[in-house]
Amino acid sequence: MASIFTKIIQGEIPCEKIIETDAEIAFLDIMPSAAGHTLVIPKLEVMRLEDLPETQAISLMRTLQQVAKAVSTAFDGIDYNLILNNGKNAGQEVEHIHFHVLPRGEGSPGPFRKHIQYAEGEMQEVGARIRNCL
Ligand code: AMP
Repeated sequence: MASIFTKIIQGEIPCEKIIETDAEIAFLDIMPSAAGHTLVIPKLEVMRLEDLPETQAISLMRTLQQVAKAVSTAFDGIDYNLILNNGKNAGQEVEHIHFHVLPRGEGSPGPFRKHIQYAEGEMQEVGARIRNCL
């Protein structure tokens, strides 16, 4: 589905571009959570990770690794989160798959610190449920 990122891919709106390949483009987030916050997206217009053809997913991962390494190196080897908000309930606002490369310095707020507890036997049930969908 066309989104604001389609306009970036097509050069219709500006971005602070980091790299462009045949299949991907990476650019700085316009509302960064930290300096160097970068988005890495495939040019193919798909919303979710599982919508990407396997070859495109592999290509995206290669570019993601390259960009993440550059972001880290540019900030003296800083740590970072790779975040994919996959769907509305996961916080996805732009309906075009994108990985966030989010630099994390000392004292940065940790993202996943709330836990749930499985009931007796539930963990095994959940494991089986997911394995059945592979
Ligand atoms: P998400 O909540 O995962 O869908 O994140 C969408 C991200 O896209 C947000 O962090 C926005 O700041 C970012 N964003 C939206 N429009 C632009 C734009 N024109 N250029 C750069 N980043 C953008």
